Amino acid sequence: MTKKTIHPIFDGHNDILLKLLEEYADNPVQSFFEPHEGQHIDLQSAQKGGFVGGLFAMFIPPEDGKSFRKTPSQEFARDYTMNMITLLRDIAAASDGQVEICRSVQDIRNAVENGKMAPVLHIEGAEAILPDLSNLEAFYAEGLRSIGPVWSRSNAFAHGVPFKFPASPDTGPGLTNDGIELIKACNQMGIAIDLSHMNEKGFWDVARHSDKPLIASHSNVHALCQTTRNLTDDQLKSVKDSNGIVGLNFAVGFLRKDGRQDQNVPLSTCIEHVNYMVDMMGIDHVGLGSDYDGAPPPFEIDTTAKLPALTSALAEAGYDDEAITKICFENWMRALNDTWGE
Ligand code: ZN
Repeated sequence: MTKKTIHPIFDGHNDILLKLLEEYADNPVQSFFEPHEGQHIDLQSAQKGGFVGGLFAMFIPPEDGKSFRKTPSQEFARDYTMNMITLLRDIAAASDGQVEICRSVQDIRNAVENGKMAPVLHIEGAEAILPDLSNLEAFYAEGLRSIGPVWSRSNAFAHGVPFKFPASPDTGPGLTNDGIELIKACNQMGIAIDLSHMNEKGFWDVARHSDKPLIASHSNVHALCQTTRNLTDDQLKSVKDSNGIVGLNFAVGFLRKDGRQDQNVPLSTCIEHVNYMVDMMGIDHVGLGSDYDGAPPPFEIDTTAKLPALTSALAEAGYDDEAITKICFENWMRALNDTWGE
């Protein structure tokens, strides 16, 4: 029997911080360190499966506890975001040197070489950012290195795609003037801009105003699964032209042809999306963006411990070691380095 190689994976998107705060409020820090039923990321499982780091999303849950489509107030979003930053810091502090929050590609490489997990702070839906951007520098100083200007709702900066199937991602107007200013400021400061929840007009506005690689951290192929959250062929091509990256989303509703939330999905369906993206963009522009702890993945990879099943499926589909390393790690490093600077 050949020994399975564990490929280090840097992942474009997860919601573990939200999950810990919402579902393990009594002890969110400790809950990160051991496996629980239904929790996709914990340190033990991550180490087992080669999940070495990623963009850790700070998503703001409904202020009224019910309505995800309602935009939260800036104060609520700011406080909730600071709680999540504090949580990740507390996790790092309690990890006995096994988790280190990273702010640069060099940080990530150093952490991974030393066997540590390398999380990076990402805002999903920029409600915490003041429309005049006066607190953006402060968040940067806290370690923020990536922003999705909008989640699937509207805010001061842009309009997100509502979740619809089957439907086009062209669901409404693009960036606001404040949104355009946010893109320019992120370019200048070296903050990545995540397009995953943007509608199509917003996507093209970012493509026009940003001089950095286009990044869709957790989206799939619209031609294979016609949800508003996936990318059209023209969008994929423009990601390639910008030297950007698309992270494969494991959410079954964005993988399955029928768009259903049924986790009985063979890994061959993931491979179909990867193959399509590689055909359209080349091997250098495809990464992973699991959406772990934010959306249901296929049963075969429903915890980070099972990630080697995905890399094995890639190998069986004909991807060699170099290609798998690009998809799992190096493509993200290039896109982030081009965005953040040295
Ligand atoms: Zn998301």
